[in-house]
Amino acid sequence: MELVKRMLSGDSQSLARLITLVETGNDEVSQIMREVQPYLRKAYVIGFTGPPGSGKSTLVDKLTTLIRKEDLSVGIIAVDPSSAFTGGAVLGDRIRMQQHYLDEGVFIRSMALRTSHGGLPHTVGGVIKLMDAFGKDFILVETVGVGQTELDIIKNSDTVTVLLTPEAGDPIQALKAGLLEIADILVVNKADREGTNDMVTSLMTLLNYHPRTSWWQPPVLTTQAVNNIGSEELYQAIKKHKQTLEETGKLEERRREQRRGELLKMIMESISSRLNELVAEDGDFLSYLVKVEQGDMDAYSAYKEIMNNRTLVKKWLS
Ligand code: GDP
Repeated sequence: MELVKRMLSGDSQSLARLITLVETGNDEVSQIMREVQPYLRKAYVIGFTGPPGSGKSTLVDKLTTLIRKEDLSVGIIAVDPSSAFTGGAVLGDRIRMQQHYLDEGVFIRSMALRTSHGGLPHTVGGVIKLMDAFGKDFILVETVGVGQTELDIIKNSDTVTVLLTPEAGDPIQALKAGLLEIADILVVNKADREGTNDMVTSLMTLLNYHPRTSWWQPPVLTTQAVNNIGSEELYQAIKKHKQTLEETGKLEERRREQRRGELLKMIMESISSRLNELVAEDGDFLSYLVKVEQGDMDAYSAYKEIMNNRTLVKKWLS
């Protein structure tokens, strides 16, 4: 494909157009992915998640400056989990990252997660691959940790950075949201505010109760992103995590899991959207549905009959 060739030769406009094709679920996506496949897996992906307003964009901006100082290139994906119509977060990111827009070594893309096309996690995965093939050394993915989709996206990073603020309240909330479980590095941003030390202590206590692995215990760092304090330490911690992953062989293991998860997720997504079509159109399926809805049949028995009926299942999946 001409567009892929141009992107691989370093044309950022072609990269932008390919990203749009992937975002809109264009028919050519599988061909694009096939063609970029041989050029993958050089980029290191860092995920940033945390409540809205915790300082993700500001911190990503500062880290980008540090990475650029080492003459390494950066791709930034800011996922806006709200509706495609708000645009607020997207605009905010643009303003905060303005200084990098003129830098050829930085490619920034905002993505609305909930679009009319469904906004699926594997779309973000596709965009990461394009940036990787384009030759980015680091890809920074930023999203609000609110739902399963966002967690799925961020889990696919090589290093997961979770941001909290002193006023984020009880860190138990973060634990409940599953954020502590996925964090490789914890950051208490806005450390210029009161309550920082308490927050750090609570997080350390929680982490001690939930030890991660023998080879990595998530550090708790404090930053003042807006004042550019602590960003260098965070960058060093990210590098240390990267080095540990590489030395222990865990990086390859993580990436194998990611690739496996990508395929399974795509199949699951397509099966579940097929199921939605069935609900609307298939007589056999509807008859079960009606019986269950009316309480004439219990869901377990209906499920069992359906799954045991290979002809039906085959017909539905075809
Ligand atoms: P995001 O929604 O997580 O991306 O958060 P932003 O990066 O947009 O930051 C939200 C607001 O917090 C902005 O007004 C930032 O200037 C501000 N902010 C970021 N870091 C700090 C910090 O360390 N201290 C204080 N006081 N404010 C900060």
